[in-house]
Amino acid sequence: MTLSQYAAGLYGKALQDCSDREIYSALLRMTAEKAASRRRSDCKKKIYYISAEFLIGKLLGNNLINLGIYDEVRSELCSAGKSLAGIEELEPEPSLGNGGLGRLAACFLDSMATLGLAGDGIGIAYHFGLFRQEFCSRMQAECPNPWMEREGWMTPTDVCYPVSFGALSVQGHMYDIPVIGYEGVVNHLHLFDLDTVDESIVHDGIKFDQTDIAKNLTLFLYPDDSSEEGRLLRIYQQYFMVSCAAQLILDEVMKKGCKLHDLADYAAIQINDTHPTMIIPELIRLLQQHGIGFEEAVRIVTDTCAYTNHTILAEALETWPLEYLQKAVPQLVPVIRQLDRKIRQQYDAENVQIIDSRQHVHMAHLDIHFTHSTNGVADLHTEILKNNELNSFYRLYPDRFNNKTNGITFRRWLLHCNPGLTQAIESRIGPGFKKNAEELQKLKEFSEDNAFLERLLQIRQNNKSALAEYLARTQGIRLNCSAIFDIQIKRLHEYKRQQMNALELIHRYLDIKRGNLPETPVTALFGAKAAPAYTIAKDIIHLILCLQQIVNQDPQTAPWLQIFMVENYNVTHAEKLIPACDISEQISLASKEASGTGNMKLMLNGAVTLGTMDGANVEIAQLVGPENIYTFGADSKTVMRRYEEQSYHPEEYYESDPTIREAIDFITGKEMMQIGCCESLSRLSRELIRKDWFMALPDFQDYSAARQRAYHDYRNRRSWAQKMLANISNAGFFSSDRTIAEYNRDIWHACASEDMI
Ligand SMILES: *Cc1c(COP(=O)(O)O)cnc(C)c1O
Repeated sequence: MTLSQYAAGLYGKALQDCSDREIYSALLRMTAEKAASRRRSDCKKKIYYISAEFLIGKLLGNNLINLGIYDEVRSELCSAGKSLAGIEELEPEPSLGNGGLGRLAACFLDSMATLGLAGDGIGIAYHFGLFRQEFCSRMQAECPNPWMEREGWMTPTDVCYPVSFGALSVQGHMYDIPVIGYEGVVNHLHLFDLDTVDESIVHDGIKFDQTDIAKNLTLFLYPDDSSEEGRLLRIYQQYFMVSCAAQLILDEVMKKGCKLHDLADYAAIQINDTHPTMIIPELIRLLQQHGIGFEEAVRIVTDTCAYTNHTILAEALETWPLEYLQKAVPQLVPVIRQLDRKIRQQYDAENVQIIDSRQHVHMAHLDIHFTHSTNGVADLHTEILKNNELNSFYRLYPDRFNNKTNGITFRRWLLHCNPGLTQAIESRIGPGFKKNAEELQKLKEFSEDNAFLERLLQIRQNNKSALAEYLARTQGIRLNCSAIFDIQIKRLHEYKRQQMNALELIHRYLDIKRGNLPETPVTALFGAKAAPAYTIAKDIIHLILCLQQIVNQDPQTAPWLQIFMVENYNVTHAEKLIPACDISEQISLASKEASGTGNMKLMLNGAVTLGTMDGANVEIAQLVGPENIYTFGADSKTVMRRYEEQSYHPEEYYESDPTIREAIDFITGKEMMQIGCCESLSRLSRELIRKDWFMALPDFQDYSAARQRAYHDYRNRRSWAQKMLANISNAGFFSSDRTIAEYNRDIWHACASEDMI
């Protein structure tokens, strides 16, 4: 049935007479029906990907692509005088994630369904998601982000599970979002909610009474954890998620006739970071209730579960005071104690124990001891885990450690976000790359094809204009489209070093004021949310927003340098920014960014990376070769040595390098003080001079020089287009289809489809 026929049936009128809303609603229903009639996977074993975050983005466009009807629907709408892009704008973006980790989970769902695996996601239906970012007086303010609509992708099921928190008992209610694979199967994202949640208790931005669990449990992702109540709420959320997940999984396998002794033949549970760790003791507890002894229950759970580590940042490794667990989930405490005793009997070393001397439970330690696989998310990250951070565990279980370099789904991050480039690629190498990403290699033949190189440049220019139009319309930002678009988009964190980028831009601004004009104008774009309680991150946002005002309004510099921070960076904005990017800023302190996936999205769209040898940047550099990437800065070994020897003192750089001193002094200079908050800017400047924990100053000069080289090379348009082509044609490795095929081959063993590696 065509969309016109479908709309005629629903509304009794022609497509051109329907409102955009009506068409959106018709598309939702039509897509849901088509999805329902799609084939399911026939694998015996199902993968359960459990994650606190699923940063899925808008679904309409992607679902149409994956059903193979996007072009058809678009041209039908076009003939009726309607725009599919306009209709896609009506869909709210669910903010069920924070950054890369949540986006990874979403890409993995797409790839599992595309590869024909039975693989469902399990998470929480947060009513207001993370938060929506607003800028007020050049500072970040947080608001709720309501995204659930009466008619949307998420539909209620009649599946409910009781969840006990000591004396309090609640009902988890399951909602489903269909996950439609590209020419593949349909799976589900199961999101659990509580019917008693009360949205009206939220006031003054994102504040609410943190004690009333029945009313607040599923309001927000990552509620403020600066108080004990906040931390308890996070435990309640985590247990709610895994208790529902464990009950669902046991129900499903038993319906398939599984004896629980054979659980690992029917279910593979992937624990995405430590947030779902409590599924381990919860499953052990439930298996014991089904009459299985402790030791066997431990063995079954270990064989069924696998763990993905996403970070080595010490402050991000979760530990919970046993006392909190005793309050929130007393039924788990005896199991955790028993697991702790088991490990103490086997191993003496204090740093591998479950419960430490302060009576804190180390969630990652539970994961490593009681799952059969621990993986890192890029080569460098996995090596650091094995040789440094988790070395004591690696020596106990060398066979359990493995690497799975992250990936991204090309359907969203190429086909949907960059149709111009997709068409250009298809015109040269055919459509095979959409499902078999390595076919992008075939583009290498065209590196001397002037018409093709010219076309790549033209596509980039069109995408810049489209971004400019979008930002002018939605945020009142006016971009200079003849400038180099130099973009840093990712969560705000000191280790990602937006502050180093900002300092370098201050230096450029002052240099232009001195009369040193650049060869090409530059537009520097940022997009980043800061965690609401992360003061320095918010100070860095304030710095960038103040710079934006000063630089863009200075008639002497505005034609040469623009700085913008896009408000509320999310998946929708990413899809517009990435195809327009010339230079991809991936400048984390080496050893700190586990992988990054933004770097992969940008590479795939032909941006050239300016980055450190960190995370997956290392693999990008190996793939594209040194002419097609700008690397700089200390490597991970140097950085780790500096930490070990405590040999870094930022004051020395501030004192001895006049460029650095001038840039830092500008932060608290008179232009900034006129428009900025003195407390915030002084705190940031102090932090840089006295602490600079993520070592921006030692890398500053090298960064500035590499940036300058990239800007200079940009002038030679033909050779720049060749760099773009080298990046695009080598990006196939970063398809999440490859990543998922590896997880299945090495960890899940769910289905041996011939198409898979
Ligand atoms: C891909 C993505 C990220 C992750 O970006 P990194 O640069 O890898 O940190 C974060 N947020 C959104 C919206 C994304 O799409």
